[in-house]
Amino acid sequence: MKSPQLLVAMIVSLAACSTKSSSTMVDREQSATALAPTEFSGERAFEHVRQLVALGPRPVGSEAHARMRAYLLAELKGYGLSVRTEEFRAQTPLGEKPMVNIIAERAGASEDVIILASHYDTKLFTDFSFVGANDGGSSTGALLELARVLAARQETPPYMLRFVFFDGEEAFVSWSQTDSKYGSRYMVEQLERRGELSRIRALILLDMIGDKDLDIVRDAYSTRWLQDILWETARQLGYERHFTSRETFVDDDHVPFLQKGVPAVDLIDFNYGLWNRYWHTAEDTLDKVSPRSLKIVGDVVLRALPRIEAALAAAERR
Ligand SMILES: [Zn+2]
Repeated sequence: MKSPQLLVAMIVSLAACSTKSSSTMVDREQSATALAPTEFSGERAFEHVRQLVALGPRPVGSEAHARMRAYLLAELKGYGLSVRTEEFRAQTPLGEKPMVNIIAERAGASEDVIILASHYDTKLFTDFSFVGANDGGSSTGALLELARVLAARQETPPYMLRFVFFDGEEAFVSWSQTDSKYGSRYMVEQLERRGELSRIRALILLDMIGDKDLDIVRDAYSTRWLQDILWETARQLGYERHFTSRETFVDDDHVPFLQKGVPAVDLIDFNYGLWNRYWHTAEDTLDKVSPRSLKIVGDVVLRALPRIEAALAAAERR
């Protein structure tokens, strides 16, 4: 994922790390409303990541990729969700590749939709074994756990909840607008073709959220009001340290939705190891990922969701 300029941006923004005035700090402490953690289990999410990593590298079209898909489908069906796949063939620099987006739904009071998403493919490397514990694995495990928790709730959600596992996020050769984000680009095309794009009211994307040393950046492409709700929720949960004020542009599966006017936000820790040195390397292994980081993100999403739903409902009334 993402372009090399991002690393430069990261380095610059790290150097310019936030200096808050003491009065701001006091105000923030006084206004802090304690929010409790949720039923999201970091251990369950981590166990999914462990299972996926145990399959080995999971690039598009591989045997392990197919086995992972079977695992995801079985889990999602087990939660009682309505599950389907979106199969397509994508033109890549390595020829035509079969790809499969996975979609699980829980019906809401409204037919309008909130999407929670992750990519599940791992990047293809032929010179080393890339198991993508964080990149591909972590967000997929967390999304499964979010699906389990939200499927188990008694009350009907105000909006349909759609859990989307994108295929083909990773570039086959080098990241470009035509060699990346195959699954999300295809999904947006299909939604638009069917006239359903306006039903997608918000998208929350998770990517690389398992790093033991969790520091999520503010992606500057993301929709600000959506991002602000998530950051404020993180602060109230006591996770402020992990949701940093550093801003950087991250090209990811949310961008095709943003380009069509769908509010979308990417939760991504693009600082995986010192200077992101584990990213897209043989070092992206299970020992770098923690249940705690997965839980932090899970809690924030679950606690932010009612606020996002309320904001969408309020916008309808205006
Ligand atoms: Zn990647």
